[in-house]
Amino acid sequence: MIRYDLHIHTTASDGVFRPDEVVFFAAAAGLSGLAVTDHDTLDALPEARAAAAEAGLVLTPGVEISSAVGGVEVHILAYAFDEDSPHLQHLFGEQSARRRERAEAFLKTFKERGLLPEGARLPDVKSLGRPHLARLLAAHGTVQTMSEAFDRYLVPTAPTFIPKPLPPGEDVVECVRRAGGVTSLAHPGHAVPHRVIMALIEAGLWGMEIDHPAHDDMLRGYYTELADRHGLGKTGGSDFHSQASAALGSHGVDTLPF
Ligand code: AMP
Ligand code: ZN
Ligand code: FE
Ligand code: FE
Repeated sequence: MIRYDLHIHTTASDGVFRPDEVVFFAAAAGLSGLAVTDHDTLDALPEARAAAAEAGLVLTPGVEISSAVGGVEVHILAYAFDEDSPHLQHLFGEQSARRRERAEAFLKTFKERGLLPEGARLPDVKSLGRPHLARLLAAHGTVQTMSEAFDRYLVPTAPTFIPKPLPPGEDVVECVRRAGGVTSLAHPGHAVPHRVIMALIEAGLWGMEIDHPAHDDMLRGYYTELADRHGLGKTGGSDFHSQASAALGSHGVDTLPF
């Protein structure tokens, strides 16, 4: 029985629904609570908290932090941290500056190649990501779908690709720990190598995301065993971004693990 969806994006990063809208969806799905976990920003939390209080839902502060371990990009979910932590605020300040710089570099490249008109603008969002560029390409008719935008212009194999500088995952785990929070490795089934998982556990990782749309029964079983073997906590969530994602509330946990 899923009562808490612990992986949800909003318009503060690359989701398409506002914080109050995802809270409405959580209530409509019959959940007891939710965590809003935007990429590298806490901007959605005040609005989400107010909406959750009004709807009688538990709102757990969360965030999904992009990082790299041994050259592999990994996403680290963090929960129940001190939102005023100077360590976290410093990290998110750096991350949003890097994201804006990268988005502007993509925009420049696309304009130079005639894929976007001179007047094309990035949205006014703290934590920009590739989905914002995909939507811009689609809005100008350069591509028909988001996945066409990714496949042709936004993946590492595309000639227009620009990499994102990432902090070491081990440092992110330590930073969240110092902010009094817990960390959970997001969607390990997205091809995260075993050596990377072990390096994060060594660095003090708290838990792993078990229930996620990218995981089938076999992967859920595999990661459950791995978590049990290393005494890790277990989290879950839908990774809701838009109408095209798995439904909000379709993945999660039955009790809050932290
Ligand atoms: P970024 O943080 O800028 O690297 O963008 C990563 C985000 O883009 C992920 O969190 C997904 O939401 C989205 N994404 C990544 N690959 C694809 C894809 N092939 N199609 C659609 N969305 C994608
Ligand atoms: Zn995303
Ligand atoms: Fe992710
Ligand atoms: Fe996510």
